[in-house]
Amino acid sequence: MTGFAKDLLSWFEEHGRKKLPWQSSPPDVYHVWLSEIMLQQTQVDTVVDYFNNFIINFPTLTELANADEDEVLASWAGLGYYSRARNLHKSAKIILSEYQGIVPNSYSELIALPGIGESTAGAILSLAYNQSRPILDGNVKRVLSRYHRVVGHYSDSKFLKELWRLAKYHTPFEQNAKYTQAIMDLGATICMPRKPHCPECPVSRNCKANLYNDQASFPQKNAKKTRPERSLAFLVYHNDKGEVYLVKRPDKGLWGGLWSLVECEDDEATIATAIKKHNLKASVISSLPRFKHSFTHYRLWIRPIIIASPGLKKDYYNIKKLVLGVPAPVKKIFSMLDSLNSTESNE
Ligand code: SF4
Repeated sequence: MTGFAKDLLSWFEEHGRKKLPWQSSPPDVYHVWLSEIMLQQTQVDTVVDYFNNFIINFPTLTELANADEDEVLASWAGLGYYSRARNLHKSAKIILSEYQGIVPNSYSELIALPGIGESTAGAILSLAYNQSRPILDGNVKRVLSRYHRVVGHYSDSKFLKELWRLAKYHTPFEQNAKYTQAIMDLGATICMPRKPHCPECPVSRNCKANLYNDQASFPQKNAKKTRPERSLAFLVYHNDKGEVYLVKRPDKGLWGGLWSLVECEDDEATIATAIKKHNLKASVISSLPRFKHSFTHYRLWIRPIIIASPGLKKDYYNIKKLVLGVPAPVKKIFSMLDSLNSTESNE
């Protein structure tokens, strides 16, 4: 076992996270798999509530496999990267039909499932099946690039190849579940992106970035670009019963598979054309304050426009009883409408 792995394992005994909702003894592989998918691109603190809620709605893999995609997306709504939820659902169906409902314990079978890459497969196999498998998620990349002072950026394939080599090198042949949890915990709680807590770090003695005091240089960052901005109008069509028109978005692309409002460019002429296209009798009632929604690559300014749309029923929903998954900004618009209605009824 490498010194790095030994130091990490002893630190884990006292400082590792052992009470996360997906951790149990013995491990529940459905919970481990679900948590690993949710943790892709998302931090533990955000995932905990979504995980607990998801498990209430789909307590077993069989129930997940037999659910409608809309129900699954509704439980995922707000967590982002919705292809994860659709792939999770597809994988559950495959696992139920081909593996008797048990998440497979072989690397080749796991990696063939939708939404499971090399690192996620490694995490599932080590955390749930205690196999010796390396992982290389964002936290591990940061720890290893600092510990060994590996120069490069995440988009650089040579850099990633070297990190995979190091990840394999350090992965022990025993205590695999603990080691995997330990290295993830170190990245999340000690070797943080901005201010690593090196004095408390169990591997600081041999960490090259710590010795050279240049932790912030690893991994290399891309030159900061200013994020472009876009403005859209979100059209909130109300029919005679006060129900709101929603459309299912295509599976590919932003908010894939969720139900959303009709959008168009935020200018009066485009809005006027769009609303008549949906309903010739539609007319603008008012607009709500613009707000900003940030994505990794751009910022979106959203102006909700409230529209009277008499005579239509199809795909109009009572938003108070909605069981469909909607994107976070649409949820925000619904709560703006809610507070607007309660202010009006108090007047
Ligand atoms: S010593 Fe500092 S930079 Fe090195 S692994 Fe530990 S926290 Fe990260």
